[in-house]
Amino acid sequence: MTNENSNCIFCKIAKGEIPSVKIWEDEKVLAFLDIQPINPGHILVIPKKHAELVIDLDDETLSCIIKVLKVLNKKVRQSAIKCEGINLFLADGESAGQEVFHVHFHLIPRYKNDGFGFKFPKDYHKKPSTEELNKIAKKIIGK
Ligand code: AMP
Ligand code: ZN
Repeated sequence: MTNENSNCIFCKIAKGEIPSVKIWEDEKVLAFLDIQPINPGHILVIPKKHAELVIDLDDETLSCIIKVLKVLNKKVRQSAIKCEGINLFLADGESAGQEVFHVHFHLIPRYKNDGFGFKFPKDYHKKPSTEELNKIAKKIIGK
């Protein structure tokens, strides 16, 4: 493995220095159960090599992760685990809720009334005008 970060808990898991319940392992990708699951079957999918943010990750490894997410999505749906739907979630940066600074996708089995949900800001229900949306788009794409 290249580029490991000796202080990173997920690098330690990838190297087998900290135990994990593995669900998938290949040359580039590892998936294991979250120790504090939102629902049973909550999986974390990580690159074996250290990268803090998505933009730090090479495209090939990111593609491999997405393919593993698809395989595991199917496996969880076909398993005995309660799963009526799945949330894929990635916290990219501290303000986005990232607590472990090694890229990881959460794959969370969901079912009706499981108690999990997103909290929306107070102005969420006021939809912006098309003009406002266009201004935002310009800021992002710079045209
Ligand atoms: P995030 O807030 O997106 O950075 O999520 C970090 C996740 O890592 C949390 O859901 C934790 O429960 C999980 N986690 C932390 N340490 C471990 C560990 N040793 N094994 C499995 N999951 C872990
Ligand atoms: Zn790491």
